[in-house]
Amino acid sequence: QLETRVEVHSDDEVGSLAHAINHMAEELKRYRDSRNEFIANISHELKTPVTYLEGYAQVIRQGWYETEEEKQQYIGIIADEAKRLNRIIQDLFDLTKMEEGQLSILSEQVDMNVICQSCLFKVQHKAEQKGLQLQLFPAEPHPYIWGDPVRLEQIMLNLLDNAIRYTKAGNVSIRVTTRTDHIHLTITDTGQGIPSDELSYVFERFYRVEKSRSRQYGGSGLGLAIAAKLVDMHQATIDVQSQESIGTTFTLTFPRLIP
Ligand code: ADP
Repeated sequence: QLETRVEVHSDDEVGSLAHAINHMAEELKRYRDSRNEFIANISHELKTPVTYLEGYAQVIRQGWYETEEEKQQYIGIIADEAKRLNRIIQDLFDLTKMEEGQLSILSEQVDMNVICQSCLFKVQHKAEQKGLQLQLFPAEPHPYIWGDPVRLEQIMLNLLDNAIRYTKAGNVSIRVTTRTDHIHLTITDTGQGIPSDELSYVFERFYRVEKSRSRQYGGSGLGLAIAAKLVDMHQATIDVQSQESIGTTFTLTFPRLIP
């Protein structure tokens, strides 16, 4: 039993060794508890889409539908759930690699105006489908930072996906501003917002403001945890401000690179 505590009888070297062993035992227990919780969460997250897949495959196999349209609808659900499963697996892979310090990022000169423009282009269709307006306010002069362009897009796309997903009407805007030493990047939406007492938890893995609400929107619950880790790897910070029914702003702050 690795977590057994030892009695400390003296304050000499043997005593401090006993203290060190007890400290290690506590760390080990914490690690084990958090790993167990992580595995329980993963099982739960994977179970839901799999249940849907099994259920609707059964419906189709048994012919439990009235019209061709209804059948197509069920096939659509299967396709969506398979996609979600794929995303959860990819996100889990990224997150565990990062947590074990095995994900390395490139360090190149990156123009954040270009990254934002490219991300905007990628989510345009999704925003249009919901009737949302997307706006980019680029920075003048060019906002350069050191970073990994693919990972920077991943951060931005996670934030933009959320902004679009949790906004019913209005707009989503990205603003890039340069300061002497820093580059600020804000993503603002006019969506449902996040209650103030839950703001500090949204970067935790699998945390969702309203369990069923987010599930219905199809997220993995890992997007912000991954974004926060990647931000950290860029020596940057991420903050969130939000007001319920008014909207949410995520702010990224990067050290500025002056070429
Ligand atoms: P998910 O995949 O569920 O979106 P995330 O880690 O990306 O997981 O986000 C965690 C939770 O934070 C979401 O489930 C949602 O409740 C809340 N959230 C994130 N971004 C926004 C936003 N722009 N507006 C409102 N709620 C948000």
